[in-house]
Amino acid sequence: MKIAIVGAGFSGIATAWNLLQHPKITLTLFDGKGVGGGASGMAAGLLHPYVGAHAKKNWMANEGLQATTALLQISAKSLNTPVSESVGMLRIALTEQQRHDFHYCASINPDVEWFDETRCQQISPHNSPHPGIFIHSAIAVHASLYLKGLWKACEARGGMFNLLSIQSLHDLKEFDAIVLTVGADIGRFPELKDIRITPVKGQILELAWPQHTPPLRYPINSQAYVLMSYDRTSCIAGTTFERDFRTSEPDLPFAKDQILSKISSLLPCLEGAEILACKAGIRASTPDRKPLIAEPLKNTWLLTGMGSKGLLYHAVYARKLAEIILGRFFGEERGLQQQN
Ligand SMILES: Cc1cc2nc3c(=O)[nH]c(=O)nc-3n(C[C@H](O)[C@H](O)[C@H](O)COP(=O)(O)OP(=O)(O)OC[C@H]3O[C@@H](n4cnc5c(N)ncnc54)[C@H](O)[C@@H]3O)c2cc1C
Repeated sequence: MKIAIVGAGFSGIATAWNLLQHPKITLTLFDGKGVGGGASGMAAGLLHPYVGAHAKKNWMANEGLQATTALLQISAKSLNTPVSESVGMLRIALTEQQRHDFHYCASINPDVEWFDETRCQQISPHNSPHPGIFIHSAIAVHASLYLKGLWKACEARGGMFNLLSIQSLHDLKEFDAIVLTVGADIGRFPELKDIRITPVKGQILELAWPQHTPPLRYPINSQAYVLMSYDRTSCIAGTTFERDFRTSEPDLPFAKDQILSKISSLLPCLEGAEILACKAGIRASTPDRKPLIAEPLKNTWLLTGMGSKGLLYHAVYARKLAEIILGRFFGEERGLQQQN
């Protein structure tokens, strides 16, 4: 059975991995920009169950975290190097509302601890003095490395890559099934005109980490976030949420204006830090903020709507979609094997 997947981000590669567990699948992954050419390649890499201003536990967070953790391990094994760090994350409460919300979050979730000002500064001396919560279950993912490793694992199972932008579903007529994991880029396909996706642009800055300052031990998150990059000589600071944007390209003046002041009130040591890069990606947001699986045409599926929680949701949704597809073609015999 021949399957085409269009889009080599978190959703497409995780779906490929799950489908390739079946011995009768031949799979080609198409992407005009290469692996991680869309929002996934830009993702800062925060993975935790309390995404959002109020630190409420996200819907299906445990299942999502568990499914992504399994794929992180597969990726790390295929590259023979870690692609993530299970270090936890500090969410600093700068406002009265955050203090209220974060305190409540810590009172009901066993993986979250309330830290007073002193404790916050003990574990993260760079911070301005504020209390916050420590999310023990948070993971920092090196997004590009993770994608590279997971796709390598797919190739070892026979997955093929084609560096091609698909102009029309007609180009894929030789395939038995098509999976569209194109993120926010659904406009090109008239077959998807009824799908309601709002594109939300996000930008991040890469900043040189100040010399003679020890690197952060944990990602820091509040109204903005900062985490160390893979080589620890720089950090990633984000992000913007832009619903009205004219271009999908990085817009440095806007990103600086939106991100830098928030970051330096959180981490004064970053005031005046050199900007090494500004990157932009487009998130796909659905009306109910949950990912979407749809079958707009017979044997053509869509998986999108990851919003800003792609790391939390892609693996669990990709597994669900693969089960649907294998169930359609192989019924009871689908035999989706264990992921490891
Ligand atoms: C700045 C920023 C920071 C973020 N940080 C985080 C974070 O820390 N944690 C988190 O969980 N999430 C984060 N996100 C959100 C996360 O990146 C997305 O939820 C996730 O990447 C969506 O993955 P996807 O595979 O569905 O889509 P994408 O990653 O957008 O993948 C779609 C792919 O399809 C390809 N494509 C599109 N059309 C075609 C076509 N016609 N033919 C061939 N290929 C095509 C594109 O080139 C692209 O590679 C961030 C997003 C942004 C923008």
